Amino acid sequence: METKQFKAESKRLLDLMINSIYTHREIFLRELISNASDAIDKVYYKALTDDSLSFDKDNYYIRVSCDKENRILKISDTGIGMTKEELDDHLGVIAKSGSLKFKKENELKDGYDIIGQFGVGFYSAFMVADTVTVISRAFGNDEAYKWESKGVEGYTIESCERNSFGTDIILKIKENTEDENFDEYLEEYRLKSIIKKYSDFIRYPIKMDVTRSRLKEGSEKEYEEYTEEQTVNSMVPIWRKNKNELTEEDYNNFYSEKHYGFDNPVKHIHISVDGAVSYNAILFIPEKMPYDFYTKEYEKGLELYSNGVLIMNKCSDLLPDYFGFVKGIVDSEDLSLNISREMLQHDRQLKLIAKNIKTKIKNELENLLKNERDKYEEFYKSFGRQLKYGIYSDFGSNKDILQDLLMFYSSKEKKMVTLEEYVSRMPEEQKYIYYASGESNERIEKMPQTELVLDKGYEILYFTDDVDEFAVRMIMKYKDKEFKSVSSSDLGIEVEEKENADNKESKELFESMKSILSGKVKDVRASKRLKNHPVCLSNDGELTIEMEKVLNSMPNNQNIKADKVLEINVNHDVFESLKEAYENDKDKLNLYTDLLYNQALLIEGLPINDPLEFTNNICKIMK
Ligand code: ADP
Ligand code: MG
Repeated sequence: METKQFKAESKRLLDLMINSIYTHREIFLRELISNASDAIDKVYYKALTDDSLSFDKDNYYIRVSCDKENRILKISDTGIGMTKEELDDHLGVIAKSGSLKFKKENELKDGYDIIGQFGVGFYSAFMVADTVTVISRAFGNDEAYKWESKGVEGYTIESCERNSFGTDIILKIKENTEDENFDEYLEEYRLKSIIKKYSDFIRYPIKMDVTRSRLKEGSEKEYEEYTEEQTVNSMVPIWRKNKNELTEEDYNNFYSEKHYGFDNPVKHIHISVDGAVSYNAILFIPEKMPYDFYTKEYEKGLELYSNGVLIMNKCSDLLPDYFGFVKGIVDSEDLSLNISREMLQHDRQLKLIAKNIKTKIKNELENLLKNERDKYEEFYKSFGRQLKYGIYSDFGSNKDILQDLLMFYSSKEKKMVTLEEYVSRMPEEQKYIYYASGESNERIEKMPQTELVLDKGYEILYFTDDVDEFAVRMIMKYKDKEFKSVSSSDLGIEVEEKENADNKESKELFESMKSILSGKVKDVRASKRLKNHPVCLSNDGELTIEMEKVLNSMPNNQNIKADKVLEINVNHDVFESLKEAYENDKDKLNLYTDLLYNQALLIEGLPINDPLEFTNNICKIMK
């Protein structure tokens, strides 16, 4: 018989499964049971949507059985089964749900994380078994097929017999090693507890033969053992259970069972609504960002059930983009099973549910911020950017929902603060909410432009995400206070104009510097904000220099320019040198002006036009 090869990435994953020292091997059972349940779902769904079929619930179940002596563990289901092609397609390549994650070679290095992160489905069987055999007969087919593999070497497929449609997964459990006990996966008690832990809510019965003992007939002391078939799981989906019966661990187990993430969620939201629309939902707010979150591959959405039957894996209409990180399920009696994707978008019930869910998430996040700030800040590290994008997009129409969830690093508090906190401690005469944009908090801390504002004792919010400034532009005003960049030419702060006898003279100096820098800056002025630094750039008008940077880094580079103003500190020694040069040596003035301008660019993190010329100029003045 021909041995087929696994696809390359499957091979690597298998190798990992077989050789990794993973502490949660027990999850293989959860994976196989969840596949069995999915397979029955598919038959159930077919019957519900096709009148010519009927579904007798009693005929659908999952059976776990073991033969200790021969080290065989078998998981059987009465589900949809697989054709020969499907066996080849679905088991010969890595699980679709996990596939794209394995494209990058380097992600395969650390086995531990991969298993934890993605739950690799069917292949996890190889964590506990030397040989995996799958016997399957597809719904509506007469032939059955046997797929078998001993690991990375490949697999075989041949015809075989099976009485009815469904699938058996047969595991030949590994022998114990010095450090690892595999016998436990043949122990009835252990198997039962794994099923209880991870698969309790599976909607179909998971049956097992359990050994019990009873008094021998006619005897009063002698006991005998007998086996009895038991349904091990409670079959009540977790979202239908009473909140009071559930522990944090139950929710967390459900979260990993569903492969929502490899972290523990910062919060779960369990909703039961009975009203204009009835539904149950469990939503999770993750702590860590999925590695693909900010890529096109990431698909937002919630699992959608109609009265217990899965109708869609990722219903994106249930979540606004800005809450796209939320995971979970929604189950409603009010949705029709036959509903198509296009129809769903216009479904009134679904819209009501979505609206309701949006409010719940918002409230829950606000509570988290109020009551468990550390947790909120962890969450915000991962998803704060998403909230800010949410404010920026759709022309700011969601700002009311989102603005109180924002946080920025504060110059005063040296930690993250909310807008509400900022405004509540503003001195009465302070007109604006000040912010400074830059690459990092450290960079911003050193920005010359912050000097005046800090000197006044005002708080500055640090904007380090490229979306920050664009987002607050959408907010426009928070509690009647406008936002103001510390780099804008008018800061709204009164400063005493120093009586300067040679005011007129310096005006002429600045005029001639302006013409030296023509095309590069809009103006050259005496700075009101600088205390210690000789120069800085500021901007006139709406577009700030930071925004210019962001816009120009975009693919459709439009070469947008902010109106830059070169500000000179007239109390700095450099100013005296400028004046001297202006009077006596025009070449020197050219040189100084150029140097100062380039310095200002460097401080701003902007590229200088001609680095070579710049360094030559510095050498010139060193002579
Ligand atoms: P996933 O469940 O995330 O799709 P798995 O690796 O767990 O990934 O399974 C791969 C595929 O193999 C499934 O999508 C399904 O098509 C098929 N499969 C696995 N187990 C069964 C089963 N018991 N019955 C029918 N199909 C199955
Ligand atoms: Mg699976």
